[in-house]
Amino acid sequence: MIIQRVVLNSRPGKNGVPVAENFRLEQSTIADTVQAGQVRVKTLYLSVDPYMRCRMNEDTGSDYLQPWQLSEVADGGGIGVVEESKHHNLAKGDFVTSFTWPWQTAAILDGDLLQKLVPQLVNGRLSYFLGAAGITGLTALLGIREKGHVATGANQTMVVSGAAGACGSLAGQIGRLEGCSRVVGIAGTDEKCSILVQEMGFDAAINYKKGDVAKQLRELCPGGVDVYFDNVGGDISDTVISQMNQNSHIILCGQISQYNKDVPYPPPLPPDTEKIQKERNITRERFLVLNYMDKQEASVLQLCQWIQEGKLKVRETVVEGLANIGAAFQSMMNGGNIGKQIVLVSK
Ligand code: NAP
Repeated sequence: MIIQRVVLNSRPGKNGVPVAENFRLEQSTIADTVQAGQVRVKTLYLSVDPYMRCRMNEDTGSDYLQPWQLSEVADGGGIGVVEESKHHNLAKGDFVTSFTWPWQTAAILDGDLLQKLVPQLVNGRLSYFLGAAGITGLTALLGIREKGHVATGANQTMVVSGAAGACGSLAGQIGRLEGCSRVVGIAGTDEKCSILVQEMGFDAAINYKKGDVAKQLRELCPGGVDVYFDNVGGDISDTVISQMNQNSHIILCGQISQYNKDVPYPPPLPPDTEKIQKERNITRERFLVLNYMDKQEASVLQLCQWIQEGKLKVRETVVEGLANIGAAFQSMMNGGNIGKQIVLVSK
């Protein structure tokens, strides 16, 4: 059977900026027959995520991430529909997902490695299982629960960087649901800031590309910052940390501003910021959602319940066509997305 697939065409280099041309669309084939235990799936949605930047390097810098190989098919979070099954638990028409879905229009996969999806849990919005009801939502929820020390009635102020992105937009809302009394976002455009406040219930948002972030933060967080959900690192984080309170907490979710640099993860803080962190006893522990998968099932149900109740507002930026997945990745790395960046491969 003839299929389309996307392979890694070239590496940007550890200090390079990734571009759409780092990926290449090509025609390929898959077997015509399905073996025992396997299913043939049609790909519906693929996810592009910042961690994929590391997979473009020959050495990802982390033992849990494998590099993509040149001229070989890329993979990541994906959702599809079963078209033929020789697996005891999967039938034609079932919707399934995997963290290692190949970037191709159809595939033959090992049924044991797929999770069956229940579309009703997300009001039929299947792609949410890649975002708000998937690994992104889990990252926001478990990051806050495991590292945020958020407590109802404690009058805490939370700041979120990368706030209009997939994790950030959920983290601010979940911070509020879990008990923070004030939530302030930092994002890269006025439109994003306005969505955060008007749609997602943030108290305020700062466009870091305009004006003085430190001054605006002081005005918007007069009692200082108690919880910092950090998606970006770099200068923005140094500014936030300088306004954090004694015994406050950083949720070290990601450091996207450093991903096109050859630095270790997590990147060390500059000496002045590190001094503040130590003097004020600010926690900054590494957080990796994959370490908490024992909490996946209950947490996904919690996220789905909030979605159904309208307590968690979800935004997606959808790009159509497998051929555009490289462009979607490039755009997301440059701030082109609001909420989760999704690629629609087939309807
Ligand atoms: P995302 O935030 O939807 O997309 C990336 C966003 O980052 C862009 O839209 C852009 O928005 C912002 N950005 C890009 N370059 C920046 C820079 N130099 N400075 C400031 N902001 C920049 O992606 P996501 O999937 O939600 O991931 C967010 C973070 O969480 C990433 O760091 C990712 O690695 C991390 N993550 C961690 C885990 C974990 O287990 N710890 C799991 C998933 C994701 P602006 O317009 O605002 O610049």
